[in-house]
Amino acid sequence: MNAKEFREFGKAAVDFVADYLENIRENDILPSVEPGYLLPLLPKKMPETPEAWPEILTDINRVIKPGITHWQSPNMHAYFPTCISYPSLVGELIATGYGIVGFSWICSPACTELEMVVMDWLAKFLHLPKHFLHEDDGPGGGVIQGSASESVLVAVLAAREQAVRKERENHPEMSESDIRGKLIAYSSDQSNSCIEKAGLLAAIRMKLLPADEDLIFRGATLQKAIEKDVAAGLIPVICIATLGTTGTCAYDDIESLASICEQYQVWLHVDAAYAGGAFALDECAELRRGLDRVDSLNFNLHKFMQVSFDCAAMWVRDANNVVDSFNVDRIYLKHKHDDQTKIPDFRHWQIPLGRRFRALKVWITFRTLGAEGLRATMRKHIDLAIQFERAVKADKRFEVVAPRALGLVCFRAKGDNEITAQLQHRLMERKKIYMVKAEHCGRLFLRFSICGMDPKPSDIEFAWTEIETQLTAICAEDQVNARKAGDITDLSHHLTGLQLTNETLRR
Ligand code: PLP
Repeated sequence: MNAKEFREFGKAAVDFVADYLENIRENDILPSVEPGYLLPLLPKKMPETPEAWPEILTDINRVIKPGITHWQSPNMHAYFPTCISYPSLVGELIATGYGIVGFSWICSPACTELEMVVMDWLAKFLHLPKHFLHEDDGPGGGVIQGSASESVLVAVLAAREQAVRKERENHPEMSESDIRGKLIAYSSDQSNSCIEKAGLLAAIRMKLLPADEDLIFRGATLQKAIEKDVAAGLIPVICIATLGTTGTCAYDDIESLASICEQYQVWLHVDAAYAGGAFALDECAELRRGLDRVDSLNFNLHKFMQVSFDCAAMWVRDANNVVDSFNVDRIYLKHKHDDQTKIPDFRHWQIPLGRRFRALKVWITFRTLGAEGLRATMRKHIDLAIQFERAVKADKRFEVVAPRALGLVCFRAKGDNEITAQLQHRLMERKKIYMVKAEHCGRLFLRFSICGMDPKPSDIEFAWTEIETQLTAICAEDQVNARKAGDITDLSHHLTGLQLTNETLRR
């Protein structure tokens, strides 16, 4: 393919994406294909000779689109949002066009330095403490990771290495393997699965402590666990708190957790994968309480800040703790500005060596939408969730199970779990909207999350009508079934009676 053909294919692809996104409401949110649907539709080997791009674009509609779950549809209400925006898509295209791998400054100075700039812009936008800024004199700073999971793992690995070094200094009589065997990390039972996975990957015990009844993880719980573990000879390393848990978007009590972490010199990391964007809103200022006392935190721009997946911001109070833990050098990686004092080589802040030029899409998105536009989108999500919550509360057949938080409403049909399970099953079968179930203390509930590229109040009305009419239908069917069951019971009594009569007659 030459540049001329690329221009044609590329322009057609942009039209393709714009048409898709403009008309996204026409699609059922969930695909209607069965597992393995794609395999027989495609050849077993790549084509030997080149094919024309119009054919390929046609095939995208024919074989790929039927297997797409439409995440950018406003009828998506599952998980948390992953909102894209047009400027972010353009940023992806240009960054990919440069085709760079920016693991060190010399590999593309603009990649590293733009990342420092946008991470500082973002930190200021979110009102984070100054010590997280690159422009501050201290050792802190921000980096773009691929995911919240990677950010958490980096924090756990760095905390582990720092703890091992400290213990070796304090206890030279202990072997390194003895020390490693005693390390322990903490989070709550409401934290995302990636926290437990980080424990597995980092080979460190991860204790998931029970959150309080209101689903909040507090310092008192952490303190009890640490006291018990220290008495048993274990070495507490890191605590991972969550602002915006995946189940109900609960916010852990960072202040009280920070007090315990400071007392025991335990690294405190905050996973704010979804809720972090709300730090930017004055009305959510409460969420920022205690952030000046944490060692690191992460937040996904690809959730509700309109930067396309993947883009996860991570800040560390002291980058030396990370760089010292992961700095593995080779002669071919060296360059004359690699002393790390002025400009970081971000490969030392992450797991892979190679890194994408993600900062470009962030920069283009921030400039195109402005801080005002980003705040407006988050406020829109909150308003739409309030609209949905009102509808739930106005219908006596439903109940809200946790306080609405940002763009998430957790609710259920009153009564036993079976009704909520049936409702979710039915909604999934109809594919008009998509929600996932969750459970707490034996109570099943549904999570209604505001998602999609451009959700509107009419989309919330659509979703609510779908939910409440399906509940009405389930109740009506249950009544018919109950009546039928009643009739059958009557009939069987009747039958039993007849049989008895026959037997009596025969006798
Ligand atoms: N943490 C929280 C609170 C989440 O809700 C999620 C995903 O939704 C994650 C972590 C994992 O995010 P990622 O897919 O970026 O690893």
